[in-house]
Amino acid sequence: MTRTTPPRPVDIEAVFPALARHRRTTTRLHPRQGTAKPEDSSVAGPLLWPADEPWPVCTSVHPKAKGHLLSDVRLRRRVQDEARGRDFTDEERRLLDGMTRRRHVPGLCDEDPLPMLAVAQLYVRDVPDLVGPEGPDLLQVFWCPFEVHGPERSIDVELRWRRAADVGAVLAPQPEPPVAGREECVPTSCVLHPEQVVEHEYLGLLGEDLQDEIAEWEEDLLDEVDEVDDEGAYDSSPPANHATYEEYEAAMAAARAQEPEEIDYMSDLSIAPGWKAGGFASWHLTDPRPMGCPACGTPMPPLLTVATVECDGASRSWLPVEDRDAADDPRVIDPVGVYLGRGLMRIHTCPTDPTHPHRLSFQ
Ligand SMILES: [Zn+2]
Ligand SMILES: [Zn+2]
Repeated sequence: MTRTTPPRPVDIEAVFPALARHRRTTTRLHPRQGTAKPEDSSVAGPLLWPADEPWPVCTSVHPKAKGHLLSDVRLRRRVQDEARGRDFTDEERRLLDGMTRRRHVPGLCDEDPLPMLAVAQLYVRDVPDLVGPEGPDLLQVFWCPFEVHGPERSIDVELRWRRAADVGAVLAPQPEPPVAGREECVPTSCVLHPEQVVEHEYLGLLGEDLQDEIAEWEEDLLDEVDEVDDEGAYDSSPPANHATYEEYEAAMAAARAQEPEEIDYMSDLSIAPGWKAGGFASWHLTDPRPMGCPACGTPMPPLLTVATVECDGASRSWLPVEDRDAADDPRVIDPVGVYLGRGLMRIHTCPTDPTHPHRLSFQ
């Protein structure tokens, strides 16, 4: 099934033509749980990985005895998924209890190299906003599931670009780390439904005049909403006007449906939520941070955004049409189960030379 972002509630470039210069496309990936094939774009594999090529490993020392078994992480998610909306059965409780006691792999030392986790595989043909080096048409993303690398003590991400046509026999089975430092570093396998949408630059990175004009416009919109609310209050003197409470409630629901929605630039008109390739970076938790290339200084846009939620209350207008009836289903809202930073992790790459070292930013 495809996923379709509803049209933005306002054509913001018609209101502010200057925003046309701050427009960019992004490809929303719309991950949903499922198992892809190596020939597909996916989250958490399997990858189109050559049988004769070594799998990336992390050689850092980690407290691996304290890690969570990947098999337990997956089992826990499955049990929780199946028990949604009801209490756990005794059998499920027994399974979950067993997991908290099993926390290590016998014989695995802190110094042992750990296969990296296959996180995402994106074909350029599926993801138009994926910008990489000349030649390759496939990006493979890995990370180590322990978050204590380098001076920033963060997650370690590895990118591999390749030409799909160069891959002969595909490696099977594919390695994975037996343990993860934190459960929320482990992505659940997902198929993707890429969709290209338009974004506009983060509010705080627009010129000050434009920011002020947008703020003023938003306030006017709010006033309109308030006026309609007041009229609604005037009408709502019933139930005297209505024969029954049912009629009264129906009338109120109809009035609510006619109210203008609350629209704001940041939530509805600027940056799409969820996993995506390309587009703009949101800096809602920190001030905007320059992401210059470590090799040549060129400002680096986000290549890939890894998000905990595909959609929340504030970004509700981005919920795909196909998911409207499932807006509280965790498999729609948080299909991947990954939580990095405070909900967002971005991989930035150099537009001048995508093989220059990448950088990460978090929100
Ligand atoms: Zn590591
Ligand atoms: Zn560079």
